[in-house]
Amino acid sequence: MSTRKPPAGSVTKAPPGLPYPLLENWSWQDDAACQDVNPELFFPAEAERGLRKHAREVLAKSLCGTCPVSRQCRDHAIVVGETYGVWGGTTEDERDHLATATG
Ligand code: SF4
Repeated sequence: MSTRKPPAGSVTKAPPGLPYPLLENWSWQDDAACQDVNPELFFPAEAERGLRKHAREVLAKSLCGTCPVSRQCRDHAIVVGETYGVWGGTTEDERDHLATATG
């Protein structure tokens, strides 16, 4: 997860092509369990596949399972369409499934 965040209460403008501006409160990240963890735990290397990818995801998810802001993190990833990495204990494929199931 990125350690970069906009100032509290700021409005993030949508990139060109998105249908509406994103209003985001990132203050939940202040309580993230992964603040001091190498982001590589949450994001696959380009060539990572199979068991290695699965093992990394299991480790990342186990940390997310202890995180007090896991729900906010997962919801953020679904709302903004994060297509890469583990957010809120979910992989990109799992978020796709959740987004499809909830329409
Ligand atoms: S849920 Fe996981 S990825 Fe999200 S902030 Fe917490 S530890 Fe980090």
